Amino acid sequence: MSEAWETILQETSLGKRLTPDEAALLYRSAPFRALGRAARRRRIERVDPGKVTYLIDRNINYTNVCITDCQFCAFYRPPGHDEAYTLSNEQIGRKIEETLAIGGTRILMQGGHHPDLPLTWYTDLLGWIRAHFPAIEIDAFSPSEIDHIASLERITILETLERLKEAGLAGLPGGGGEMLDDEVRRRVSPKKQDAAGWLEVMRRAQAIGLATTCTQVIGFGETLEQRIGHLSRLRDLQDESQAEHGNGFIAFIAWTLQTANTPLASSAQKRTYGATGGEYLRHVAVSRLFLDNVDHIQSSWPTQGERVARMALGFGADDFGSTMLEENVVSSAGTTRCSMSEAEICTQIRRAGFKPAQRDTRYQLINSEVQA
Ligand code: SF4
Repeated sequence: MSEAWETILQETSLGKRLTPDEAALLYRSAPFRALGRAARRRRIERVDPGKVTYLIDRNINYTNVCITDCQFCAFYRPPGHDEAYTLSNEQIGRKIEETLAIGGTRILMQGGHHPDLPLTWYTDLLGWIRAHFPAIEIDAFSPSEIDHIASLERITILETLERLKEAGLAGLPGGGGEMLDDEVRRRVSPKKQDAAGWLEVMRRAQAIGLATTCTQVIGFGETLEQRIGHLSRLRDLQDESQAEHGNGFIAFIAWTLQTANTPLASSAQKRTYGATGGEYLRHVAVSRLFLDNVDHIQSSWPTQGERVARMALGFGADDFGSTMLEENVVSSAGTTRCSMSEAEICTQIRRAGFKPAQRDTRYQLINSEVQA
């Protein structure tokens, strides 16, 4: 007689959608290799089986000033702190020049919740970038930043997004999602928008045609059910947005919580934080199977290192992320590393047995015959 996990994997291979309970059962009891095999099969059905994509880009953290005090954040500084900064247009411009010089096609701008920057600061910045660097794609401002700007301005989320889009915003990255569960959010980021608030910003962004991705951070001491609940909320919104606007999350990216230099590192529960490489790989595989309406699953080398990131390509991931060039938020809390050259990304992809292909933000191929 088949074990329950075998029956579930068999049914899902025939197209049956996983329920949250089934996903939790797979997470708990499917053997590692069988789970990886099933996720790999699903990945092959959805996207080019031989290719793994990557992006050449740079993260730009335009300000580290923040009033939200997330317990897992080592990046931010309160207003007035000696190390607080906000970059000028010219400083951002120099970073874009360096990005273009290495063949970069996108910048990803994120920052803290600055209490004194009005919406016009953001729209002026976008307009300035558009005028000086028309070739660069701008993905910027996670849902929590949008929520913060809208609250400061006392305008709606939709109006905030529309004005940013009009000024040149192409996409909204999925940062700030962390764990879409209000018990976890109240514990580790009580001043941040709740789960429904994050989803609502993404719903509006998708409705006006912005490119969006979704993310998840595991390792807050959450239950398995809370992890799957996060995936379930993403899957529901994806169904809704695809049906209503023909637009949804382009990719899902999960990583593991890093706590170095954060308040969580000295908390009494510090042993319960974080997740192992094996747990991460199970999560990637379950995500590939559960998020049957999201095309791309990214592997995370910054938090897991190259070896586990390569292994994730055998557990359903089809994208190796981006060069990043400069990352300050997750790396402040102790990542393995915070940037990788194009040549090294391609080497890692080839070592895993795939052909590297350069893409843009929307996962359209720019170069599928990469020689790097
Ligand atoms: S994670 Fe973002 S919102 Fe939270 S404290 Fe850090 S910069 Fe502020």
